[in-house]
Amino acid sequence: MNPSAALNRIKPSPTLAITSRVQELKRAGVDVIGLGAGEPDFDTPDFVKEAAIKAIRDGQTKYTNVDGTPELKAAIVAKFARDNGLTYATDQVTVNVGGKHTLFNAIVATVEAGDEVIVPAPYWVSYPDVVLFAGGTPVFVAAGPAQGYKLLPEQLEAAITPKTKWVILNSPSNPTGAAYTAAELKALGDVLERHPHVWIFSDDMYEHILYDGFDFATIAQVCPSLYERTLTVNGCSKAYAMTGWRIGYAGGASWLIKAMAKLQSQSTSNPCSIAQAAAVAALNGDQSFLKERAAAFQVRRDLVVGMLNAAEGITCPKPDGAFYVYPEFSALIGKSTPSGKLIDTDEAMVAYLLDDAKVAAVQGAAFGLSPAMRISYATSDALLTSACERIQAACAALR
Ligand code: PLP
Repeated sequence: MNPSAALNRIKPSPTLAITSRVQELKRAGVDVIGLGAGEPDFDTPDFVKEAAIKAIRDGQTKYTNVDGTPELKAAIVAKFARDNGLTYATDQVTVNVGGKHTLFNAIVATVEAGDEVIVPAPYWVSYPDVVLFAGGTPVFVAAGPAQGYKLLPEQLEAAITPKTKWVILNSPSNPTGAAYTAAELKALGDVLERHPHVWIFSDDMYEHILYDGFDFATIAQVCPSLYERTLTVNGCSKAYAMTGWRIGYAGGASWLIKAMAKLQSQSTSNPCSIAQAAAVAALNGDQSFLKERAAAFQVRRDLVVGMLNAAEGITCPKPDGAFYVYPEFSALIGKSTPSGKLIDTDEAMVAYLLDDAKVAAVQGAAFGLSPAMRISYATSDALLTSACERIQAACAALR
């Protein structure tokens, strides 16, 4: 027995690999600061936990409808109307086992060998691999710091071919935190209007983590003419600090939602019934804590951006949202560590930071744009300060 060709096309998630490496080191007693994980350090709100406990007590412990309970679908319909001005009927929404599963269902249900999916780089690590698993071809478009890590309309136009099936947009972005304004989305939408065969996967997972009063916008709202061919994707993981509960969802064309449910019916079946009850509470409950949490993240962003820019050879743009920074360090490439190792790639740099400074970050190569690294600042101010001091010292020690 050998692994399938589809499996051989993908690699294990590099971000999950760093997280388990950090856990291993901590178990071995090493004083390592993990800035690799993509999850808030806040806890799931108590009212959400209570709803889950009540669901267990009430016997909501059986199979549910494959792609979501009527209660959760109603809460999602209300959320899209409330937050995004988007009208979806219940047969236009789907609930999946985390946002990653939403991606998997949408791509595997629609992409065939030869199909192209446009993925602006840097990108969330799962986009290319899910496309490859489905047999499609990710088409990367470099969107570097000079253009604010955002895809430009002329780049999108140039990347579209008759084989393009999807373009993936992610705002605010993992790994850079860059967010598209409504005007920027409209300019991309103007291009897409000329190419009616291209569908839009709008990953809005970090919608509620935005700074400096940045107004969130999503393309189906900004360009109503694209509504029919946009899958608007969101989830509970990041906004409600519910990464372990595994609830992702999307709104889109009813045929696509049905196709995704067909695939789900033969794979996971329904998402956990208790997690769905918790998600109903999260989406229908008081949303005011979202702003408080975003404000706390903003303080950490400012701390980390300031301290990293003070490190020799590191340039750290200021993100609009999410909880990552994506500093670049081309000035350090070619230098050597105190023990004589050459920093020739961003893998070498993150290995140096882990081995010598005991700080775990993720190499930019995993996100498709080097030399850079992703640092998650979803941890305490004290740990962030200590981690940035270690990085500053490690950079200063390079020769
Ligand atoms: N989309 C983006 C951009 C992400 O960063 C993540 C998680 O890291 C997800 C989707 C999926 O989140 P989950 O599967 O945990 O709900």
